[in-house]
Amino acid sequence: MSAPASAPTAKPAAPYLPMTRPTIDDETISGVAEVLRSGWLTSGPKVKELEAKLSDYCGGRPVRVFNSGTCTMEIALRLAGVGSGHEVITTPLSWVATSNVILEVGARPVFVDIDPVTRNIDLARVEAAITPATRAIIPVDLAGLPVDRDRLYAIAKKHNLRVVEDAAQSFGSAWNGKKIGAFGDFVSFSFHPNKNITTIEGGALVLNNEAEVKLAEQYRLQGVVRTGFDGMEVEVVGGKFNLTDVAARVGLGQLPRIDEFNAKRRELARAYFAAFEAPAARALSLQLPPRDFNSTNWHMFQVVLPEDRLALTRAEVMAQLHTAGIGTGVHYPAIHRFAVYRRLGWKDGDLPIAERVCRSILTLPLFPAMTLGDIARVVDALTGILQRHLKS
Ligand SMILES: *Cc1c(COP(=O)(O)O)cnc(C)c1O
Repeated sequence: MSAPASAPTAKPAAPYLPMTRPTIDDETISGVAEVLRSGWLTSGPKVKELEAKLSDYCGGRPVRVFNSGTCTMEIALRLAGVGSGHEVITTPLSWVATSNVILEVGARPVFVDIDPVTRNIDLARVEAAITPATRAIIPVDLAGLPVDRDRLYAIAKKHNLRVVEDAAQSFGSAWNGKKIGAFGDFVSFSFHPNKNITTIEGGALVLNNEAEVKLAEQYRLQGVVRTGFDGMEVEVVGGKFNLTDVAARVGLGQLPRIDEFNAKRRELARAYFAAFEAPAARALSLQLPPRDFNSTNWHMFQVVLPEDRLALTRAEVMAQLHTAGIGTGVHYPAIHRFAVYRRLGWKDGDLPIAERVCRSILTLPLFPAMTLGDIARVVDALTGILQRHLKS
């Protein structure tokens, strides 16, 4: 007797494994529905509550929330008085927002090459890039791995520079046991859905004092200051950067889970290291991230492909992984090679370490809902693809 036509003839394919995916619980979804029914949708009590909770998280420092991480950095630069004629030192290996905000306030980005191990700005090269026009440094904690804060602030203090920490990826990371955000100068977080906690779109800025808070609130909403029932004044040109209560409610459901999410990410990262230890994988000389289990929040797990040994491009590796049902990403192309930055005079060869790493870096799936089986599947697929395409 033949099998019914509907009988499976092959093992069903595993579901597509995306590079990342947020974890939103039912309690948060109900909470959002309550906000939607409440009649107050835009910035209101939920925004205030999220700001208070974030401030607690950041050791009591003032925190304000905004509708993106990008605008928090632009506003921090304005608060620091950075503008036309000034230079800001940053890394070429970041999301382009990091340097676009420097251009947005009218200043000039000065890129300093990266450390090939941490993939963060190489602090040993920063002092050589400082000129009389330098006003600030924007370090980026790539993949959540913190830039050395002791060394960073020693340089900033010595040269009287402000710091805007681009901590978009490092919410929940720590430096010497102190949470990122709980110390330092300006600290900027992003709550984009790819980040370790989300408000859908959104961000937060940790500030130093009430004067900065007052000005940040003005830049957040058209520069408006209200007094009494009918008073209104506008002294600075602000933008439209306020977060909605709907978004803030998502963040209030996420924040209490940050340690749990990051513990899961850490466990998965350990599994990646263990799987890449297998002899077949070791023979490929992939460059793994630093084996850090104290300071990073494991926002991403990125490998650098051995470009000299491969007979296929990174795009082909990504395409084959995609065919195998695995999503990957590139974080990031080197910023100074984009047309906007070339027009400012940056060119190939200016930042050779970043250029090499950016050509071959690949972000593998990592998010709290993944399983150890998913990790094995990714490492098997990647190892197999690379082995089949090694140059002889
Ligand atoms: C996500 C991110 C940003 C921008 O955050 P948005 O919330 O998308 O504006 C800036 N810098 C880095 C390093 C990021 O990863």
